[in-house]
Amino acid sequence: MKIGLVGGTFDPIHRGHVLLGEYARQQFHLDGIWFLPAGQPYFKEGKKVSPAADRLAMTRRALDGLDWARVCDMELRREGRTYTCETVEQLNAAFPQHEFSFIFGADCLDQLDSWRAPERILAGARIIAASRGSGADHKAMERKAAALMERFGGEICVMPFLELDVSSTLVRERMRDGKDVSDLLPEAVAAYAERQGLYRDDAPEAEKPAADPAAAAAGAQPSFSAVIFDMDGTLLDTERLFIDAWEEAEGNASPALHDALVAIIGVTRERSEEIIYERLGRDYPYEARRLAVDEVFRRARENGTLPVKAGAAQILRTLWRKGYKMGLASSTERELVIPELEAAGLTGYFDAVICGGDAARGKPAPDIFLKAAQAVHTDPARCLAVEDSRNGILAAHAAGMIPLMVPDLIPPDAELRALAAAVCPDLAAAEKWIAARET
Ligand code: ATP
Repeated sequence: MKIGLVGGTFDPIHRGHVLLGEYARQQFHLDGIWFLPAGQPYFKEGKKVSPAADRLAMTRRALDGLDWARVCDMELRREGRTYTCETVEQLNAAFPQHEFSFIFGADCLDQLDSWRAPERILAGARIIAASRGSGADHKAMERKAAALMERFGGEICVMPFLELDVSSTLVRERMRDGKDVSDLLPEAVAAYAERQGLYRDDAPEAEKPAADPAAAAAGAQPSFSAVIFDMDGTLLDTERLFIDAWEEAEGNASPALHDALVAIIGVTRERSEEIIYERLGRDYPYEARRLAVDEVFRRARENGTLPVKAGAAQILRTLWRKGYKMGLASSTERELVIPELEAAGLTGYFDAVICGGDAARGKPAPDIFLKAAQAVHTDPARCLAVEDSRNGILAAHAAGMIPLMVPDLIPPDAELRALAAAVCPDLAAAEKWIAARET
């Protein structure tokens, strides 16, 4: 396939970047465009660059709904300085089936001969350089391209392009001054930058708005900029499926078995084994039942019949577009979480996914939530944790998050009600509760 690459610091990604990719795709009949946020651009050293996680999150949001575009985080995963020649070589090694073209804005061609090893870039990819449209500029760029090809080899095409009057610098300046940026940024990117408070700190200390002492004195509710979701029983209706499948394998549904199954909701696999043996006796055929239940889940994943909770896709999409950082914190192992999220079509909404094996202790210990907060680079106190189970609410509370309970099989008792900031009957109500806190 023919793939176009648009690389940049993307701090933040703006409409000009997206348009550049889209236009080159059409003009050169490319099959897709990959956007590559730069790791540590050496030519921006000494300048303040936003964290990679934020630039990646904004890039993903900017490309939402564009079927021809995808994010490639290869440069972010590389340690040290980012050199385009290394990126091109890595891409060719990883994707020998593709033919790559690097797409540059007008300013980049002028700098190419000062980059590291331009001959290595041109050996691995064609360059498509946008000119600023006017005849004279286009001719000058073609002359420049010819000279560069003479010197470094390869192929450089100059593409007439009417550049939008936008740069990341302009966006940062406007945001620092508290001005509107909706004409410069895709909506979800603007929402993210605003909610996460990016670029606000570029303002000199004296200009920063002071914290509102009246609100603090009135005990204003703590606000949050990240939302961490539990998966089973919260987003997926898997707790019910789990109990039904187990009772079916057992051939009867005794109250003792039902209670034991309810008790293992939201705990790790190892702990659930212990609980079952404690409650049902050491000779209980735990392994055989587990295998039968696993098989039911495997079939549901394969057939696309894994039950998703009503309103799950809706709340994830809404919060994602409103600029919250999104995390998943599940006690289940990664080998199951990822395929289940994928089968449910929910994977793309998460900036970070933390699973059972990623933390030392499962819920109700706070470890999984603490890891999730770290992965979305947010103080736990600024994270809302959406949970259905007792263990989940205890874990979220112990992590210092704001627990929001959306009960599944177990109604909350007085203790859970006291720990949760709110109890909502379903995800639609949770979405409304969050929206009400924003105004
Ligand atoms: P900054 O203002 O921080 O220097 P920038 O807006 O130039 O940032 P980068 O992330 O450095 O953005 O640029 C990445 C690529 O996008 C470069 O190839 C650049 O030429 C191109 N580019 C930047 N702005 C535009 C624009 N308005 N139209 C088309 N291409 C652009």
